[in-house]
Amino acid sequence: MTKIHDVVIVGSGPAGWTAAIYTARAGLNPILLAGTLNAGGALMTTTEVENFPGWPEGIMGPELMQKFEEQAVRFGADMRYEDAVELTLDGEIKEIRTDEQTYRTKSVILAVGSDYKKLGLEGEELFTGKGVSYCATCDGFFFKNREIAVIGGGDSAVTEAQFLSRFGTTVHVIHRRDELRASQIMADRLLANDKVTMHWNSVVEKINGTDRLESLTLRNTETGETSDLPVSGMFVAIGHEPRTKFLQGALKLDEGGYIVVDEPSTRTSLPGVFACGDVVDSHYQQAITAAGTGAKAALDAEEYLDSLSIESEDVDE
Ligand code: NDP
Repeated sequence: MTKIHDVVIVGSGPAGWTAAIYTARAGLNPILLAGTLNAGGALMTTTEVENFPGWPEGIMGPELMQKFEEQAVRFGADMRYEDAVELTLDGEIKEIRTDEQTYRTKSVILAVGSDYKKLGLEGEELFTGKGVSYCATCDGFFFKNREIAVIGGGDSAVTEAQFLSRFGTTVHVIHRRDELRASQIMADRLLANDKVTMHWNSVVEKINGTDRLESLTLRNTETGETSDLPVSGMFVAIGHEPRTKFLQGALKLDEGGYIVVDEPSTRTSLPGVFACGDVVDSHYQQAITAAGTGAKAALDAEEYLDSLSIESEDVDE
């Protein structure tokens, strides 16, 4: 019979690691499934994080995640580079299957985060890795002295554009409205960058190229006029969507696909299953808010496990 764990945490961003720190310190010996491709979560592809409290000079995203990991491992969290591929979450003992093995556990904390949102244009998938990218820190270097486009107007787009201006001859920011959604300080910095050209009220209508991306057809949303913008790279930064497809209907989701929790707790629609971080949050999506909900999920799991042991004591008597 395989061991029954107290808690398995799925996901290794700020929410997952914070849940691991708390459950490890509570003596619950958490297993943390960090994933294979996305280990560390969204901050692994971020450059400098300036708004995480405690780091007055800022800290690079991957370094911050390394610190989270060190802190959790110090208290006994057991991290595995495995992806949860199938979950059986109803019933008192839950099962999580990875490519390596099946974990049996009394409680589960889901902190699986989100994926990059796609534009949904023809050629977007075909040219991914051939000019189309979702991660400036991963791919920016390949576009040294090239014309680059960044799509979006939020903090991600602004951060990506600012970073890419180190490499590109010009960075064209294509935004569907006439003002940025990004925070003021970041927006002001971008607008003052003379390697950046803003294309307001503009959307990408077509992605053009033969073997690689060669140009974008832009449409002005006010005049309807179209124009061709020759670029070698297009970085799409239009937000995220929750990573919940693998749950295959096991839990209640909202219309946006986010896991529904019984707020202010992190309890999902199934007892013993808790969710935290960006997979429940369509609004704030900050490292610090994700970490906060990770702490809540750990405390909720601890309370749930206590209630199970009280029930079993009652049965023993
Ligand atoms: P946001 O949802 O904040 O912004 C998405 C942007 O993409 C918006 O400007 C939106 O336009 C645009 N957009 C959305 N869909 C489309 C589409 N189909 N076609 C064209 N444009 C589109 O996402 P972000 O990823 O930028 O940020 C997510 C969260 O993470 C935010 O809370 C942000 O503050 C945070 N973040 C913080 C960072 C930091 O502080 N260092 C860095 C990165 C992210 P519109 O404005 O018209 O809606």
